[in-house]
Amino acid sequence: MKIGIYTGSFDPVTNGHLDIIERGSKMFDKLYIGVAINVEKKYLFDADERVRLLKEACKDYKNVIIVQSEGLSVEFAESLGANVILRGLRVLTDFEYELQMASINKSLNPNIETIFMMTSTKYSFLSSSVVKEIAKFHGDISKFVPPVVETAVKKIFL
Ligand code: ADP
Repeated sequence: MKIGIYTGSFDPVTNGHLDIIERGSKMFDKLYIGVAINVEKKYLFDADERVRLLKEACKDYKNVIIVQSEGLSVEFAESLGANVILRGLRVLTDFEYELQMASINKSLNPNIETIFMMTSTKYSFLSSSVVKEIAKFHGDISKFVPPVVETAVKKIFL
């Protein structure tokens, strides 16, 4: 069975993430989405809410499972029986960080491959931070996030 993981903060999940999830779900029998819990990071949404929003946004993808993840990605992957870490690549600036992470993960566990999927062009400048920035100034985020996220974000930035 081909099992992959895709981890991130998803604070909140955007259409860019969903594009990777949808395409990724076709490559694996099971794709786990790991919602990162990092006590040192300040999130807009707590982990339970980030999971809820992802679950709602991914409800049509039957082989996609949303879970919380803590600690090293390779250990998280191993615990789920996954041998592929899926990552999305947007702009060139993502590359350096991603190459570093992929190299470190390879040295921690050579059995786990990192694979990259290029973002669809229309999402190449989309990030959770951009969404939050637009929402803060009451701009229209409907093109960038699923409806459930739009509602949740609007509630925060009333
Ligand atoms: P973190 O900030 O903790 O890395 P993110 O939720 O921003 O978490 O990103 C998780 C993954 O999703 C990363 O691989 C990132 O490159 C990818 N990603 C984020 N936004 C997009 C997008 N618009 N298109 C494609 N991939 C994306």
